[in-house]
Amino acid sequence: MSNDCIFCKIANGEIPSEKIFEDDRVVAFKDINPAAPVHLLIIPKLHISTMNDIDESHNELLGHIMHTCKILAEKMGVHESGFRTIVNCNSDAGQEVFHLHVHLLGGKPLGKMG
Ligand code: 5GP
Ligand code: ZN
Repeated sequence: MSNDCIFCKIANGEIPSEKIFEDDRVVAFKDINPAAPVHLLIIPKLHISTMNDIDESHNELLGHIMHTCKILAEKMGVHESGFRTIVNCNSDAGQEVFHLHVHLLGGKPLGKMG
């Protein structure tokens, strides 16, 4: 838990969110400013600031996050039409919240990257 991290506060319920899924290690909730009809954020409960901060001790957690994305894509009904997962890291990627999160986007054609 990082004291002034909004995603830690969402994970522990201090800040409300539209939670779609939660277990002992991860939380998934709707992005407040959706870029597609389906736009979820999947986060670890553990505070990890950026992709630069992951190491081998996180391998199982990261695998669990990706598996959760797959389950949620199915739950949201976009697994067959398709979806995109994105992890932004630092300023060139436009990272705004410094708690690791995977964007899960779908529900419309998302176009080419870039
Ligand atoms: P980033 O640019 O860091 O990869 O993405 C941060 C995302 O978090 C943005 O898409 C933004 O809309 C979303 N976001 C920021 N603050 C909140 C919040 O308080 N609640 C929710 N549900 N989403 C948020
Ligand atoms: Zn955090």
